[in-house]
Amino acid sequence: MLPITGLERDERGLWHLFAGEALPSGNVTLEVEPAFRALMCELHTLAHVVNALVYTQFGGALLTGAQLNADATFRVDFDLPGADNDTLRALEAPLNEVIRRDLPVSSIFMPHDEAQAVPGLFRSKAVAPPAGEDGLVRIVEILDLDRQACGGTHLASTGRARPARIVKIDNKGRQNRRIKVAV
Ligand SMILES: [Zn+2]
Repeated sequence: MLPITGLERDERGLWHLFAGEALPSGNVTLEVEPAFRALMCELHTLAHVVNALVYTQFGGALLTGAQLNADATFRVDFDLPGADNDTLRALEAPLNEVIRRDLPVSSIFMPHDEAQAVPGLFRSKAVAPPAGEDGLVRIVEILDLDRQACGGTHLASTGRARPARIVKIDNKGRQNRRIKVAV
């Protein structure tokens, strides 16, 4: 079995990429590793929560990078010049409050141009989820907390995540703050 290292889309379809030189022939079976998938759902959903808290508390600050890790940690980078690191560290309490409240997570599809007209739906400074072939973009909502365009995998509600800890705040240059979180 070969681990998939990435996805690519072109006019011929969606490509699953793996490292190395093996040449597949005949039928290829793809398997999702349930435990890893569940962990990514958990970390990614919590990344939404941190994103929502930063966005509302720091005047619409945008995401500049994110990484989910197999060791049950993740980091999110924000364009936050001059932000006080203690204030960022203090987001741990509202983050766990959102987990405790067990807010439902749902998604809808809406026309891409309509979504672009709604302030705050696109949160990343560099990349935006593209419209599908049908011209629609997926909007993920955490009830009472957050709505944003996203094509990722999420928990059904925030209470399915384990309690989380903000383990580190790093300054990445003058503009960026990196928040590292562990569950
Ligand atoms: Zn997402």
